[in-house]
Amino acid sequence: MSKKILIDLSKFRLCDDKSCDQSPPEGFFSIPPNVNGLKSIRELAVFQFTCRKCEDAPCISVCPAEALEKDSDGMINRYTNLCISCKSCVAICPFGTMMTDFFDHHRKKDMYFDLSDEHELNKFIKACPQGAITLVDSDENPKENIYKLNDKILIKEHIWNTDQK
Ligand code: SF4
Ligand code: SF4
Repeated sequence: MSKKILIDLSKFRLCDDKSCDQSPPEGFFSIPPNVNGLKSIRELAVFQFTCRKCEDAPCISVCPAEALEKDSDGMINRYTNLCISCKSCVAICPFGTMMTDFFDHHRKKDMYFDLSDEHELNKFIKACPQGAITLVDSDENPKENIYKLNDKILIKEHIWNTDQK
């Protein structure tokens, strides 16, 4: 697949406001046998682009399971093996970084798609909120709030400080 996958996080945030019937699907490039506890592409994206990297991160201090940690670059990481899905970090974050479906660790297996397979990718696009996923030939473009997560994924998000890129 030569095109990149552009993920518009704002469309998923609308879903997170309970306007969708079910949790959005997840896409991976290599699906391991045990999908429980896997972190989604969106979770990696929000910690990179949405999170404001608070100095005294309230999400870390509120977590009863010590499941959140900040790395040397200020990036938050969630240890899924420790997380008890209480969602306290979602409630306390003043910037709406996390989406509640990140903590649905036991969603149906048919909601996971292998994005390296064109057929699966098309099913994934249809299962996501309308307009949330597009396939593009373009690259990172901060003027349009589009940022590179990796070689295959672009993220559209209104980040708080363009200097962080
Ligand atoms: S509270 Fe929210 S913005 Fe602040 S570090 Fe935690 S996730 Fe990031
Ligand atoms: S949902 Fe998980 S990471 Fe968030 S506060 Fe609860 S245990 Fe910690």
